[in-house]
Amino acid sequence: MESQSRENVVECFIVVRLIVDRRFFIGASAACSCFMCASNSFSQEVAESMPSCAIMTADDQLASDKIAESEWGGNAPQNDDMGFEASYSLRKRWNPDRREIRVAFLTNPPIADHVFRAAQGWEPYMKLKFKRVNVRDGADIYARFAPGQGHYSYIGTDCRWGYANDGHTMSFGWEGSVSTTDLRRVTLHEFGHALGLVHEHHVPGSDISWNKPAVYDYYEKKYGWSKEKIDRNILNQYTRNEVRGTAYDAASIMHYPVPREHVIDPEDVVGWNSNLSQGDKILIGKMWS
Ligand SMILES: [Zn+2]
Repeated sequence: MESQSRENVVECFIVVRLIVDRRFFIGASAACSCFMCASNSFSQEVAESMPSCAIMTADDQLASDKIAESEWGGNAPQNDDMGFEASYSLRKRWNPDRREIRVAFLTNPPIADHVFRAAQGWEPYMKLKFKRVNVRDGADIYARFAPGQGHYSYIGTDCRWGYANDGHTMSFGWEGSVSTTDLRRVTLHEFGHALGLVHEHHVPGSDISWNKPAVYDYYEKKYGWSKEKIDRNILNQYTRNEVRGTAYDAASIMHYPVPREHVIDPEDVVGWNSNLSQGDKILIGKMWS
């Protein structure tokens, strides 16, 4: 898979299983399964159906930094530690003077309309709007649909690098039918990355009590990941120089599920967050206020 072949890709998991019964259909009809999320009973077994989601980062950091500098007109963001409840990448941040992010879909199946409307779920909480445009008119985010290839996005200004090098900046990998809850969860999460947000489980202060042997065992057997890759994608934390956002928020849409088997303290279990948390809303409002 393209996203998994990249050396510096950071992977997470967004769940495609179903929680609610309101569904729309792409092709075949679908069954529904329900369980209580965000509880200590959230287990590795129920997390089994999590398809991969990935943050894409530029292979060429020099080029990436030049893109970010052009976004800021030579005035790189300085210290703006405002006690955010979620976190964004300081290095890849879009200019807060922006009032518009242009979104183009490389193809326009019916689901594209639903995805765009779901992405607009961020808008009530920030002074920035997503504007849907045609590819030929130029965009900031270029989304594609690639069934079976996972969900992923570049972060912030790296979207420009991604389009120049990959021809797209965001990819949705649903196969078959998609529930409204799942579509909302994945879309808000991936557009969160495109706005500059990072995975919440990596942020300073998350301090999750990982059961490291269990985590290594699971990801090695299920995905064939090396220890280094597991450290980089699951266990390591960002430094405070890399992100802003000081308070860890387990309810963030940018947190991926953490099953009971992967942590020592059951309080660290995280289910499927499918809505913006209060922290997410406050953060994005401060980024574009
Ligand atoms: Zn992600």
